[in-house]
Amino acid sequence: MSHPSYNITSLIIVGGGIFGSAIAYYYKKENPDKEVVVYERGELCSGNTSRAAALLSRVRPYSHVIPLSIETYRVIAELENITGDRLPVSYNGALHLASNSEESKALAAMLGKASGFGIGSEYISASEAAKMAPWLDADSAEKIAFIPGEAITDSYLLGMAFATAARIIGVKFVRNTEVSELLKYGNQVTGIRTNKGVHSADKVVLSAGIWSINLAYNMGIGLPFAPVRSQYWITDHSESQFPVSSPTVLIPAANFYARPQGNSLLFGVREAKSVYADPKTLPDDINSYKFSNDNGWQDLEEGWRKFSPFFPGFDKVGIKSYVAGFSGYTPDNQFVLGEVDGIDGILLATGCAGAGISIAGGVGLGISRLAGNHPNPFNFEPYRHNRFGSIDPYSPIHLANCAAARSKKTSG
Ligand SMILES: Cc1cc2nc3c(=O)[nH]c(=O)nc-3n(C[C@H](O)[C@H](O)[C@H](O)COP(=O)(O)OP(=O)(O)OC[C@H]3O[C@@H](n4cnc5c(N)ncnc54)[C@H](O)[C@@H]3O)c2cc1C
Repeated sequence: MSHPSYNITSLIIVGGGIFGSAIAYYYKKENPDKEVVVYERGELCSGNTSRAAALLSRVRPYSHVIPLSIETYRVIAELENITGDRLPVSYNGALHLASNSEESKALAAMLGKASGFGIGSEYISASEAAKMAPWLDADSAEKIAFIPGEAITDSYLLGMAFATAARIIGVKFVRNTEVSELLKYGNQVTGIRTNKGVHSADKVVLSAGIWSINLAYNMGIGLPFAPVRSQYWITDHSESQFPVSSPTVLIPAANFYARPQGNSLLFGVREAKSVYADPKTLPDDINSYKFSNDNGWQDLEEGWRKFSPFFPGFDKVGIKSYVAGFSGYTPDNQFVLGEVDGIDGILLATGCAGAGISIAGGVGLGISRLAGNHPNPFNFEPYRHNRFGSIDPYSPIHLANCAAARSKKTSG
């Protein structure tokens, strides 16, 4: 199949979640004469982006991840200028608790890496921590680090800020339109097929979240991640226990994280055995998926045994909401970003490892530079799609490995 060059779109982006919207924004900003079209099956940012707990954690165990989140912090003011709307970002900081010498060592190493990027932190006492987060009893912690400036936001609004800014500078969004196939001629991706016809492009970005697995598989790429469930709960309102100004709290020993949500507490527990889905069984609309028969109650009971010493008042607090969704986890808890070996004209922005909101800026900038054939300011080497060799993305062993990786995650 050949195509005339005069009517080929420069960049087609498949999926209008936070990744697709961010990439569209950066690419159009740096390539104003190029045409950029985003295809979204439903409504923008209505997939897993709208379900995130929206911790914008910069401080993570890997040096290559930190700059991706730093870019997200930088771009927020830029998006606000373009859209004219303030984003609800709270820079309340974060408390990281270490409960034994191994965790204290890991915490010190992580803070050392963060300080290399200019992110400061200090160790504080349990009573100082309780002043910041009155629900927290950190007496048993060996070390408590406070990282000022760590932020939380609303993930849907941040995703929509990228989309709105992108639209203002000229990106075209085609909503309610499903991409059924990525088209390839020899080793070159040439465009996409939708229910409305074929659309050719110089480059295609695959940013269809967990659904990317099936689209990639149909063109011979086995993406190395699985849809793995995350879930969190939101407590009833209590101004005295959950001040809006309190920091995010991360407790690896209890597989627990929490952040203020107004005057309530949003908290998540990473189960010992994370739940995954076979990618073939995913519904088109995530809102129709039954994530739990009991609003995660059994998992909460299991998690409670570990987190209750840190949250002694928990049994007197009411729970008002439950939220669950899928993230794309790999066996090494890293992302799947960048070029595809052996196939030109396609870029991957998938495998978010539950951190897609905080790294959205870096993903947007890095992928857009690669799409424009410019050097990527970030190191995407650890995120190569073929780092595990050949993967059958439907194999139960592979899916279980990905779920196990999420259970071991300790950062935000
Ligand atoms: C409960 C929960 C808590 C989380 N908490 C955090 C957090 O605190 N911090 C953080 O950084 N991250 C968090 N995450 C992860 C974050 O939500 C994801 O990393 C992020 O939303 C990924 O964005 P995305 O654009 O890749 O995916 P999505 O938002 O799922 O977007 C993919 C889009 O592609 C579209 N699409 C799919 N197939 C097609 C097709 N064939 N044609 C056209 N369009 C298609 C979908 O409709 C969808 O809109 C959390 C996730 C969950 C579930």
